[in-house]
Amino acid sequence: MEGMQKIQMVDLHSQYLKIKDEVDAEMQQVIDSSIFIGGSKVQQFKESLQKYLNVKHVIPCANGTDALQIAFMALDLKQDDEIILPGFTYAALSEVIALLKLKPVFVDVEEDTFNIDSSKIQDAITERTKAIAPVHLFGQCANMEEILAIANKNDLYVIEDNAQAIGADYVYSTGIKSKSGCMGDIGTTSFFPSKNLGCFGDGGAIFTKDDALAEKIKMVANHGQKTKYYHDIIGVNSRLDNLQAAILNVKLKHLDTYCDNRVAAANFYNDAFSKENKIITPVTSSFTTHVFHQYTMKLNGVDRDALKVALQEQGIPSMVYYPVALHKQKAYLQDVSLPVSEKLTNSVLSLPIHTEMKEEHLSFITEKVLQIVNKN
Ligand SMILES: *Cc1c(COP(=O)(O)O)cnc(C)c1O
Repeated sequence: MEGMQKIQMVDLHSQYLKIKDEVDAEMQQVIDSSIFIGGSKVQQFKESLQKYLNVKHVIPCANGTDALQIAFMALDLKQDDEIILPGFTYAALSEVIALLKLKPVFVDVEEDTFNIDSSKIQDAITERTKAIAPVHLFGQCANMEEILAIANKNDLYVIEDNAQAIGADYVYSTGIKSKSGCMGDIGTTSFFPSKNLGCFGDGGAIFTKDDALAEKIKMVANHGQKTKYYHDIIGVNSRLDNLQAAILNVKLKHLDTYCDNRVAAANFYNDAFSKENKIITPVTSSFTTHVFHQYTMKLNGVDRDALKVALQEQGIPSMVYYPVALHKQKAYLQDVSLPVSEKLTNSVLSLPIHTEMKEEHLSFITEKVLQIVNKN
């Protein structure tokens, strides 16, 4: 470790230094204009993101959790309507469903991809089911072709939580491509600083190809008004500010490079661990690219807590995404059995991955991981 830069889960500072001049100039323009809410940077970002994603409407908002809440509020759902979601994901999705007095129905995930197991969705559908909400976890798409077919057959909405996979490509069996988050009725994302496209605070966005839904989403995000001071429905106040949009305008241009850098780091880890049977490296489905928001491996016969401590002693951080399945969380407790989700919460470990990973870091991390797992 002597002389080596500190290893972090995410290195936002090194990333900033590479685009500092442009980011600083863009931010200064906003400050000089004194237009902090609304403004040209927000409009420009909206248009650039629409183009990047090839989606008709992008509605910026305050964060990724708001984006999910606004998406569900735009759907005319009634109390106790059921929403299908994976049991192994970040809690934001379950939280907004419960907050809106809807019922989260947890479905198990696939052991190799960590995404919702589409073969288990049909059995979870009841008369009250109104939507399926897949999460493109850790950076790769769920099986959207099957999910869309099930939704079509049962007349359900599809809301994609795309907070972790912005930039990933989905390839349909016809060969037609789509950006993740743009296949269902509504997609949502987060610009939290450590996300693949992150700003310098909070931010989020909602995508849709549907004109009527876009109108409704805009209203919900803006106090339920279309005309100022005329409130037709109950909404919320959720907006992306002009400074954040200015930063995102610069970073969006680099998103594909950022994704490539993450993939290169993931490939390094995969190669280094390929012969180690105590480590199961992440699997990418054939129908999607992976943008590695997280590099999450599974441990096989290794004491995870001991490994985590031993890595920390070497200056290597690691994280457990996620330690508790949603149906086991106190706030969302349900008496259902999701064996894969439960197994994953006990075996996953995520290693540092970001856009500025250095080869010396990757070599050091992989060397230490292999040494430690073979000691116990
Ligand atoms: C980060 C994240 C969110 C929430 O985004 P915020 O901007 O923090 O509100 C929602 N879903 C998933 C899967 C996330 O990773």
